[in-house]
Amino acid sequence: MREHFELQGYDAGGRLGELTVPRADRTVETPALLPVINPHHKTIAPGRLGEFGAEMLITNSYVIYGSDEVREPALEDGLHDLLGFDGPIMTDSGSFQLAEYGEIDVTSPEILRFQHEIGSDIGTPVDLPTPPDVGREQAESELATTTERITAATEMDLGEMLLNAPVQGSTYPDLRERAARDAYASGLDVFPVGAVVPLMNEYRFADMVDAVAAAKRGLGADAPVHLFGAGHPMMFALAVALGCDLFDSAAYALYARDGRYLTVRGTKHLDELEYFPCECPVCSRFTPEEVRNLPEDQRVEKLAEHNLHVSFGEMRRIKQAIRRGELLELVESRARAHPTMLDGYRALLDHADQLETTDPASKDAMFYLSAESARRPEVERHHDRLGRVAPDGDLLLVAEDAPRPDGTFDETWTVVPPFGPVPPELDQTYPLTAELPDRTDRAAYRAAVRGIERLATAGEASITLAHDGWPPAALASVPEAVTVLDTSVTTDDKER
Ligand SMILES: [Zn+2]
Repeated sequence: MREHFELQGYDAGGRLGELTVPRADRTVETPALLPVINPHHKTIAPGRLGEFGAEMLITNSYVIYGSDEVREPALEDGLHDLLGFDGPIMTDSGSFQLAEYGEIDVTSPEILRFQHEIGSDIGTPVDLPTPPDVGREQAESELATTTERITAATEMDLGEMLLNAPVQGSTYPDLRERAARDAYASGLDVFPVGAVVPLMNEYRFADMVDAVAAAKRGLGADAPVHLFGAGHPMMFALAVALGCDLFDSAAYALYARDGRYLTVRGTKHLDELEYFPCECPVCSRFTPEEVRNLPEDQRVEKLAEHNLHVSFGEMRRIKQAIRRGELLELVESRARAHPTMLDGYRALLDHADQLETTDPASKDAMFYLSAESARRPEVERHHDRLGRVAPDGDLLLVAEDAPRPDGTFDETWTVVPPFGPVPPELDQTYPLTAELPDRTDRAAYRAAVRGIERLATAGEASITLAHDGWPPAALASVPEAVTVLDTSVTTDDKER
């Protein structure tokens, strides 16, 4: 176990944890959001960030290094005095500028030493943020450079400062996984998944999910994962469910300067709002009209305050959801905000087996909220269990409201979409206590049939399924060996 990161609880791939930052002598609860502070434009005074719920912030050491105005004060008085913030401060290295402008005038060891000298609590080497969709050769060669710089960082004496080991690899899942495995093996402390900002800016949430899921496969469970550059609250729940622990938001300030208003369902423009759909202090006290009429600096400040309130509010909601085992319900409701978020959620469910490894075995009742719920890790886990129960003799599976057919059977189990066969001894256990809609959907029937398949291939039982008019498309994959009776048909022609 890495001693600076302690996990306290899981829901799906999401986790609650405590990141200990030795140089700051503080422990930060995760998932955590780090507001980005530009040392030249402090939209909100860093000393006020605690009001919103910030425990840690992030700033760019390369901006400080390159600025005559702030470099000397940073070296003389330290970063914490410069910014007026006494909690942990993470620093970035200039990788962003490198990606943007093609070169920077500092080496990775130089900027790491500078970060240490100004008192950073978590420093970052200069990695190469490879954008999405580049050729494989470029992704591989840039990754090799990033890996070299991570290795070089491990050889420096930087005292108690924790170090980031960025995970690159563009949109190649195998490269992301390898990058993560190498970064983890370096023994460094925090693992930013890099260069996903272009994916998020283009609303490619499914590609983001695949990149993060691949990185997670290469990292140990005790690795704190930072989704670097992710600051929009609409996708926090999705990213947490994948296992991201740290987020940073420049969006709260950048969007505010642009008149943009963050919500958990997407971005609004101040000009299009007649009412504020929010309960934060700013939105309760002012109308959109009043904020529009403020002088520019005050307008930007009010919008930034709202943006921070809504972002930290979502983080609290996520932490509460993990505590209660309701994180996937939250992700599922967020997925309804935008079709690309729905793609992101569907991509998350493609990794249900990965989420299943950390999903708690027992929670309060699962809520089936849409066809996507049929692919939740809990359903997969029940199917895996059916593959191990191996009943024998004559087993009747009877759909919940279907009449019991004539005949003698050794055992009778109910069959419930989306879970499928329910062994009687399990029917009061999670997830079979799920709250299900009366009007179920095709996806749930298909999932139930997958459960029947698992049961039929596992054991020696002779299985009969009695259903009350299940859709033929779902029944098509019931194995040949299973006898199927449609009890909604009243003629003698009962057998399919
Ligand atoms: Zn608000």
